[in-house]
Amino acid sequence: MLLDHSTKSDQLGAKSTTIPVEIDQLVINWHVNEACNYRCAYCYAKWSDQKATRDLVRDTKATEALLRELWAFFAPSNYSNPLKATLNWKRVRLNFAGGEPLLNVPSVLHAIRTAHDLGFQVSIITNGSKLDQETLCAMAPHLEWLGLSIDAIDAQTNQAIGRVDRRGQLLDMYALSAAIDRAHMLSPSMKLKINTVVSDANFETDLTQMLDTLRPEKWKVLRVLPMVTGTGIVSDEQFAHFVELHSQFRSVMRVEDNIDMLQTYLMIDPKGRFFQNHPNAIHSGYFYSSVILERGAAAAFSEIALSARGFASRYM
Ligand code: SF4
Repeated sequence: MLLDHSTKSDQLGAKSTTIPVEIDQLVINWHVNEACNYRCAYCYAKWSDQKATRDLVRDTKATEALLRELWAFFAPSNYSNPLKATLNWKRVRLNFAGGEPLLNVPSVLHAIRTAHDLGFQVSIITNGSKLDQETLCAMAPHLEWLGLSIDAIDAQTNQAIGRVDRRGQLLDMYALSAAIDRAHMLSPSMKLKINTVVSDANFETDLTQMLDTLRPEKWKVLRVLPMVTGTGIVSDEQFAHFVELHSQFRSVMRVEDNIDMLQTYLMIDPKGRFFQNHPNAIHSGYFYSSVILERGAAAAFSEIALSARGFASRYM
């Protein structure tokens, strides 16, 4: 669906006479799969169409072709990218996300290495359940950021959220912490980020102990986004309560409310399409571009909307 890029002055494609905003890094999120071993009630990793076709990341050649196409279009030196009229970036980071990306370690490792070799900075966001020492040490030399999604530590809250696998296994914080320490020894420049989604199940949860143990460089606190299920929503007061409860971590905390999350992510789905949420479609899922490898990155990108100002404010 071609969105009207002229409806907002800061959306991509809009003619701009202003000087581009300087940002360090453009971040692209590639959701490589929909599958996950957890069942979070609020999960937004649900994409429409093409269920029958397999995830692009499982195809080595297609993965390499997609990454080359993305690099050619988003490389900092490509001033024909229309986004350059609004933003000027020095580096591009490709963030691997899911579902749970580490359900398929060999494919994702190949994609991470390929992206890194092309020139991308690379990061991954994982629920940590498959992050053993071997996997983490193989990824670490290629990663700028290791991202972990952790909403709670105690079993009861994790079960209420759905962060538990079919066998009832919860995240092993002790093993995870040891694996991260080992990876840091191999790759001291790798930084740790934690994402926490605040929902009605955990807005009273105190994560101080976990944060003191893992000592992330960044802690992103997101408000549950009712894009798909509409469940788990928290009030303004409940969200503020969670933030206040952790005020001692203000120096690493980055709070994102719902409105901050709309049209401010650059995202690719498991089939290799750009996709985007939209304020007018908050309860009805996403808009999709054509398949990038069929139309090319430039043509596919022109089909979706992105708030360049919102995007820039996240990374400045
Ligand atoms: S861990 Fe992430 S991908 Fe998996 S169900 Fe929860 S929110 Fe969805």
